Parts: sequence; C-alpha cells; structure tokens
Amino acid sequence: MLDIYNRLLSYFGHRNWWPGETKWEIIAGAILTQNVSWKNVEQAIENLKEAGIFDLEAIYNAPPDQIAELIRPSRYYNVKAKKLKAVAQHIMEKYEGDIDIILSKPLPQLRKELLDIWGIGPETADSIILYAAELPSFVVDAYTKRIYNRLGIFTAEVNYDEMRDYFMQYLPHDKELYNDYHAQIVALGHNICKNKPKCQNCPLEELKLCIDNGGKS
Ligand code: SF4
Repeated sequence: MLDIYNRLLSYFGHRNWWPGETKWEIIAGAILTQNVSWKNVEQAIENLKEAGIFDLEAIYNAPPDQIAELIRPSRYYNVKAKKLKAVAQHIMEKYEGDIDIILSKPLPQLRKELLDIWGIGPETADSIILYAAELPSFVVDAYTKRIYNRLGIFTAEVNYDEMRDYFMQYLPHDKELYNDYHAQIVALGHNICKNKPKCQNCPLEELKLCIDNGGKS
C-alpha cells in the first residue's frame, strides 16, 4: 500500500488538499462536492456567501428552497440543500451551534453520529472526520474503487466499508498520510486512470498489476 502511495507521491508531488477557511466551510464542502468537481462547489459556496447565508446559523434558518437555488451549480441541489440543513440542524440543536464540540468526539463516536444524520453517507462522513476533525479516517471514492479494482486488489462488488477497512488495516493511522493518499488517488483517477486509462503515463504501470484496465490507450 505504501509502495503505491510513494509512487504516486513521486509522480504528482504532495497535494495541497481540501480548501476551506473554517470548519463549517469544510463540512459544507464535503456535502456539496459529492458527484461534482470542486469548481462547482466553489461557485455554490460563493453564491451562499454573497447572499449572506453561508454560516451555520444562517443555513439553519434559511428556507431549503432558497439554499437550493443558490447551490444550483453543485447539481443535485435540492437534496444537497436538505443535507446542509440536516447537518446545520443537528449542530445547532444538539450543540448550540458549537462545531468544535461535535468535532472533538472520539473517531468511532463521531463517525456513527455523522452517519446517523439524514443524507450523510460514509464518504461525506469520512471527509468531515479527516479534513474538519483532523482524525485519521480513510476516505474512499469512485476513483479508489476503479483504480484498485484494475490493480486486482478490490473486486467489482467491494463496498465502501470493505475498501476503507482495507486501507486502514494496512496503513498507519496517520491523518496527514490519509489526506495526501486520497488526494493522490483523485489525481490519478482524474488525470490518468480514467474510463479509458492512459497506462503509458501511469506511475503504477511498472508494477504490472493491472489486467482488467478497461482497454489501454
Ligand atoms: S496502469 Fe493503467 S489501469 Fe493500472 S492504475 Fe495505471 S492507468 Fe489505471
């Protein structure tokens, strides 16, 4: 696992990952980024800020329709508006709006609590834990599944928790490593190991692990 990471790190360099000026901005970004690029997220956050309803309390008080309209660039805006509201409601009503209290919980407790909030799936929960709480919970995504399936490590049927468990079993529990490893995977999936992979440019090609690569270009 570390050999793969080190090859990616040598190729892409250290990734400066997950922008966000505040803990709430990181949490909101984790919700808004599902299935869209970060550019769309930036536009959605910018719209919310310009309208003066970006912070936690403002989201809690704003009507879902108004939030949905402002975050339209993030796609799936109606459901994402409901998710933002659900998280804001949870933090406002259970912690009087103090994000630091929920984020200071032990990792297993925080993860369970986040997963119990309406609309929050494991990828969003782990992103919040890793980037906002700064605790070592490995984030996996569609790129992870595709790449590690092609590498012969995951089957096509593998589920989210099986993938996360695999990384966490074989890697030291280190938040900096998890942060950068996920960013390396995203860089590889976005730029090289695409639907039609560019294996001739891939830093993992030398490993000769990939058999089912979707048809090399
Ligand atoms: S060698 Fe090809 S299939 Fe394997 S990870 Fe790299 S780009 Fe993907």
